[in-house]
Amino acid sequence: MNILKEKVLETSKIISKYGFNESCGMTRLLYSKEWIGAQNRLLRMFEESGLESYSDDIGNIYGRILGSKYPDQIIMSGSHIDTVVNGGNLDGQFGIEAAYLAMQYLYEQHGQPLRTLEVVSLAEEEGSRFPYVYWGSKNVVGLAKKQDVEFLVDNDGVNFVEAMHSCGFDFNQSKGKQKDIRAFVELHIEQGKVLETENKQLGIVTSIVGQRRYSVTLTGESNHAGTTPMGYRKDTVYAFSKFCSQSIDKANVEGDPLVLTFGKVIPSPNTVNVVPGELTFSIDCRHTCKEALTIFTDQIIADLRLICDELEIECSVDLWMDEDPIPMDLGLVELIEKQLKHNNANYKIMHSGAGHDAQIFAPVVPTAMLFVPSISGISHNPKEHTHLADRVVGVKALADILYELAYKELGD
Ligand code: ZN
Repeated sequence: MNILKEKVLETSKIISKYGFNESCGMTRLLYSKEWIGAQNRLLRMFEESGLESYSDDIGNIYGRILGSKYPDQIIMSGSHIDTVVNGGNLDGQFGIEAAYLAMQYLYEQHGQPLRTLEVVSLAEEEGSRFPYVYWGSKNVVGLAKKQDVEFLVDNDGVNFVEAMHSCGFDFNQSKGKQKDIRAFVELHIEQGKVLETENKQLGIVTSIVGQRRYSVTLTGESNHAGTTPMGYRKDTVYAFSKFCSQSIDKANVEGDPLVLTFGKVIPSPNTVNVVPGELTFSIDCRHTCKEALTIFTDQIIADLRLICDELEIECSVDLWMDEDPIPMDLGLVELIEKQLKHNNANYKIMHSGAGHDAQIFAPVVPTAMLFVPSISGISHNPKEHTHLADRVVGVKALADILYELAYKELGD
């Protein structure tokens, strides 16, 4: 266990050099200098420890131990190497390091697996440089489309394709999924405080929430704050407040796993002495059940229209994101739970309220996710941290699962 502890620390130290600044945190954007530095370092690290390592056309990095009996069947684990701006050094990165260390541990303990074990460092997940997410995983499972990215530019006007070329990569010319991936297991930090609050060391994810996001514009009438009597107003802040308060009350009644957020609210003209005649706001609602998500959001939008009618305010509603919840593979979830129970692990069955690469893999290959606790639930922040002991438990649990999947006959 002590050796594993040291390896967890050491590996993190090596990879964190690429983009980490003590005060500002980690910034490792797709196809940046820090990004290619980290990917090249991982490639070398995989090579040095005897893994067969390679990159694909767009810059996903892989390290593999060939299976003795079923070399074409792949048990894959990993996560994304890119980060948000000023993030931490665990989101994504830890999942790659954990997969690598788990594979190394398994090889030392048990030698060659029956199936091929493969660690992947996925090129991109966050959408922090270009307005596109899951570029890495979409390429692995054959869902990425050239036309979706070829005209994208970053904040400095650099084109996606030029950035890719500058790191020596090009479009994946392959059609569809090229590998026989039998399972994908992603270990990730929780990025919330459920595990910490409940004193659990591991989370088994059963599904990733579906999301509905809206932009809403309310149009009333801007007018003098002193000379417009209360009865003559078409005040959009008032309409929004009623709607917001009523909806959050309803969300509280509905409870877990539903969450509802009005994160962006912009009244106009947004000045002290004018009745706000226009207001735009966002709605972000998430749930693990598609039907429950649809019913709840349809209901609050109907409420909004009633409130606006009553106050003679116009309202325009744009539903611009409507993503289904993604269940993880039930067989894998059961296998993991059996394994953790057997090891007397301190775990919780839970859902993920955030999106992850696992949701891109899940519709295509049997997929599972494990969480380790985040201290105070902080993530996308330089203060993002997970106790070393919990990280070691995560690596060990991942190794146990990969052992079941790669070293044992699965009845196929
Ligand atoms: Zn992540």
